[in-house]
Amino acid sequence: MTVLNTPARYALVSVAASLVTMALKFWAYWMTGSVGIFSDAAESVINLAAGLVTFTALVLAARPADKRHTYGHDKAEYFASGVEGTLILIASVAIFYTALQRLFAPEPLMSLGLGAAVLTVAAMINLGAARLLLHGGRKFDSIALEADAKHLMTDVWTSLAVILGVAVIMAAPEEWVFLDPLIAMAVAVNILRSGLDLLRRSWSGLMDHTLPSTEIQIIKDALHEQAPDAPFHGLRSRKSGSKRFIDVHLLIPGKCTVKEAHDLCDRIEKHVESRLDNASLTIHVEPVEEDSSWDGHCIGGVANDGSDQETEPGNKCS
Ligand SMILES: [Zn+2]
Ligand SMILES: [Zn+2]
Repeated sequence: MTVLNTPARYALVSVAASLVTMALKFWAYWMTGSVGIFSDAAESVINLAAGLVTFTALVLAARPADKRHTYGHDKAEYFASGVEGTLILIASVAIFYTALQRLFAPEPLMSLGLGAAVLTVAAMINLGAARLLLHGGRKFDSIALEADAKHLMTDVWTSLAVILGVAVIMAAPEEWVFLDPLIAMAVAVNILRSGLDLLRRSWSGLMDHTLPSTEIQIIKDALHEQAPDAPFHGLRSRKSGSKRFIDVHLLIPGKCTVKEAHDLCDRIEKHVESRLDNASLTIHVEPVEEDSSWDGHCIGGVANDGSDQETEPGNKCS
């Protein structure tokens, strides 16, 4: 779809879907008085807020690098998913509290059939939007879009659970109305889980978690293929949104000319950048015969000096 040519535009799909489903669900709550349906409607408000935060962050993240942010603005995405995780936590606590109150002060439910039908329509809209966003998240390697898609999916599951509960309440005797707040509580716990997961992932992104081991292996293979005799150490990596930043120390004979060393580095960099999307590799060249070159234990990261073991960062060189 040509209209959906930026991550931010995908985020607008989520905003639109949230607006429509929020209206539908509050209508269903107003008709039925079900606290289970209310919990679902409350989640839509969070979805709307989250969609807007995601949209803002993606617009910001898409801005090119400038004088003050020379690596770009991609980390804005982690703030979006962090804020989204926090909002989900707040929603889950609010739903749980409302349900707890209703458990001790039950109220009769009305028009459950119509309420369930409206909820089904809302769930289908969310399912469609979630699938579209997941596709966009993969296409642009965007954690913020993926987070928003997962968020919409938890909403779909919430609606299905509530619809199922409503069906049971309709079939069961009137005293079984206590099922309604219990369903809402189960929904709250499920929402809590997805919120915690998002917070964990935002945290690891902000804390510069290394690239996954499969991608590290691609980099090691490139080094081995282009410079089979050169030891390396201090292979460090991090991800910023969809960008990958990698740096490594390469040990080559001191008699190499600057041009020879640079040509070699260029070949390795091109090799890695052709196999990993949005990768930027920086190589620091060191003369292999100098003692001071062997500083991998200070730098940390991955090394291949003989043992091919990861070296722990030390403090011996300060
Ligand atoms: Zn160069
Ligand atoms: Zn070094």
